Amino acid sequence: MLKIYNTLTRKTEEFQTLEPNLVKIYVCGVTVYNDAHVGHAMSAIVFDIIRRYLIYKNYEVKFVMNYTDVDDKIINRAKQLGEEPLKLSQRYIDDYANDLKNLNVLPATATPQVSKTMPLIIKFIEGLIQKGYAYAAENGDVYFRVTKDEDYGRLSNRKLDDMQAGARIEVGEQKEHPMDFALWKAAKDGEIFWESPWGKGRPGWHIECSAMNLAELGEQIDIHGGGNDLIFPHHENEIAQTESYTGKEFSRYWIHNGMLQLGGEKMSKSLGNIVSIKEFLSTRSADVMRMLVLNGTYRAPLMFNDETLDAAERNVERLKSALKPASASASGYNSDSLSASIESAKKNFTEAMDNDFNTAGAVAALFELVKAINTARDNGATNEQLKPAQEAFKELTNVLGLKLEDKQGSSEKDAEVNALIAERNEARKQKNWKRSDEIRDQLKEMGVTIEDSKDGTTWRYS
Ligand SMILES: [Zn+2]
Repeated sequence: MLKIYNTLTRKTEEFQTLEPNLVKIYVCGVTVYNDAHVGHAMSAIVFDIIRRYLIYKNYEVKFVMNYTDVDDKIINRAKQLGEEPLKLSQRYIDDYANDLKNLNVLPATATPQVSKTMPLIIKFIEGLIQKGYAYAAENGDVYFRVTKDEDYGRLSNRKLDDMQAGARIEVGEQKEHPMDFALWKAAKDGEIFWESPWGKGRPGWHIECSAMNLAELGEQIDIHGGGNDLIFPHHENEIAQTESYTGKEFSRYWIHNGMLQLGGEKMSKSLGNIVSIKEFLSTRSADVMRMLVLNGTYRAPLMFNDETLDAAERNVERLKSALKPASASASGYNSDSLSASIESAKKNFTEAMDNDFNTAGAVAALFELVKAINTARDNGATNEQLKPAQEAFKELTNVLGLKLEDKQGSSEKDAEVNALIAERNEARKQKNWKRSDEIRDQLKEMGVTIEDSKDGTTWRYS
């Protein structure tokens, strides 16, 4: 029986779905205005593992991840670059989708975008106004009325009175209460806008997720996820909006991952301690990033440094050793103990994952199986005899999303690709576009897709 820690109740609870065998998950995605960093990778990997495990437990999983493509940061960056905001955000959406693919994260069932959800967002806000949960100010802003929502603060375990003490209404805001938050913002001069009953404007951040949830998954969902930095105000406000609008419980379980820490601090743009996913993957494999996450506890902070990454890399190599073929002189082995090891590894794996996705425990179960397989091989097991254990092993590593392929750069073909890319970069430096195009075509014929960015050229087999 799967048990999940629920932020809403602050308890570990048995997992029960709304509908039999179907899990509806919504995870808050990224605001697309820059390269995604390894902190985003951590969150994506945590929820990918959760999703893969639910699939392993025979659930059908509808997994929605949104893109915030309308936002102040996007508008500012687009202004700097002299680009259309929606063009800029689309570029980073495609880019992030590619990052996730390179990280072996399963594609979401749906990836809604704010810019494409506008009619429903406006309808949602109108509904809240009609029910008295929201009000339009004279300047064209619309606010959520927190005093009307009796259990506001439920998720983050705060009381409105305590929150009020530290808050105040800023100059120019026409709020009734300092904790009221914007559902709709009147457009400033020269900004991207949409027409609405309250004039030209754009949605506030929180309302988009309530609307996209409703559009893709309906009024009630099983799991809502995101980083623990989203608990307040974002998720608190999502609950307030959706439950006020539908009159029903929004999400049964709230799952939050801890933050990636670099040098003891949360990785963030404002701190400037960023490692982009592309930079990371140019030096280490996707499996190493995933193993870093697996070695930790998803709710706790995750240390990202050479030491923890090297440890993750060693674990990946140790897992890979199970897939080696039998030795040339293999003559046979009593394989009863190997089948017992398969059963015990599967049991321990499931027990660990059922315990609020204890991935470190699941990896430990895999190591038991690695040891059994390697012992059997050393004692003369044939490929035929190793096969069932290796297949079971691969099934379980796949649940965790590990690929366990040989690293780029280790095979002859990889070395050839790298040499060609180096030659192409040299040709580009010398503005020899003819040669550069020739090499691109040659790589394409070899089934290699390359991508140029300011951090250099990355490639993968297409
Ligand atoms: Zn959200």
